[in-house]
Amino acid sequence: MDTASLTGKELAAAINADSKERAAALTAAGTAPTLALIVANDDPASVWYVNSLRKAAERLGIACERIDLGADASAETIRAELSARSADPATDAIMLQTPLPAGVNLDDVSSAIAATKDVDGVSPLSLGLLASGLDGFVPATSEAVVELLKHHGIALQGRLVTVVGRSNIVGKPLAQLLLAENATVTVAHSRTADLAAVTAPADIVVAAAGRIGLVTGKHIGDGAVVIDVGTNEAADGKIVGDVDAPSVIGKAAALSPVPGGVGPVTTALLMRHVVVAAEKARA
Ligand code: NDP
Repeated sequence: MDTASLTGKELAAAINADSKERAAALTAAGTAPTLALIVANDDPASVWYVNSLRKAAERLGIACERIDLGADASAETIRAELSARSADPATDAIMLQTPLPAGVNLDDVSSAIAATKDVDGVSPLSLGLLASGLDGFVPATSEAVVELLKHHGIALQGRLVTVVGRSNIVGKPLAQLLLAENATVTVAHSRTADLAAVTAPADIVVAAAGRIGLVTGKHIGDGAVVIDVGTNEAADGKIVGDVDAPSVIGKAAALSPVPGGVGPVTTALLMRHVVVAAEKARA
């Protein structure tokens, strides 16, 4: 079977073109949309990601400020910064980078981000709004998976979808979004007794575990659609996904590549959220 490549580049470009226009309109009307990136680590992967977000923002006409609190910042310091930015009318959107310093709990500090500025949907309030089917910002990676499937014409209603991973930033919100699309959803995790038993019957498998090569050809049924969210650094420094592509290609109907699949759509959606937050703040 030919396995289609579900690339995200065209979709990301279309979203970015729209965001750029909307950001320009906001700037022309007075103020550029503004994103505050709060960092409290010196993790190389996080530094790389923050730089790539800054470049993406700049390309779209979004002002981006990096606030470095240091790798040993306390929960109080982080909460105080998030509260101050939440109250600051000059900041439209806030993103808190992970990892956080040892002993600092994401749920505890992220609750200080105002829901109207929580563009990556990480706060307990944003996640609760999503679970309740109410309006709020959705974690961009989860939204990217659904948008990528729709962009490639893959129906969700009535389909069996297995999500591998149950984190608050990817797996759980994705399960909620898929339910809202009327899919029948199974969520697997590290304590799942037999992973293949829950992935093989699925029409669509989403791998979001952060484990290189976890999902192989034996985990999927013939003709399944496989979305690879994994972004892992291999021993040779290359970025690789959670899916063992060689054993899946030829068996799956479609597979999203890493890099170039979910990743660019995630960044584009995050930037769109910043523009939306700014538009709402000025309405
Ligand atoms: P977490 O480490 O927070 O969560 C991983 C999840 O996978 C957990 O629920 C864990 O289960 C589960 N898991 C781990 N090992 C296994 C296993 N052997 N079998 C089944 N389930 C397993 O990671 P994130 O959710 O933050 O990220 C997941 C992946 O997605 C990473 O590679 C990350 O880099 C990538 N990512 C990509 C983004 C993009 O834009 N493309 C953005 C964000 C993340 P348990 O709960 O039991 O521990």
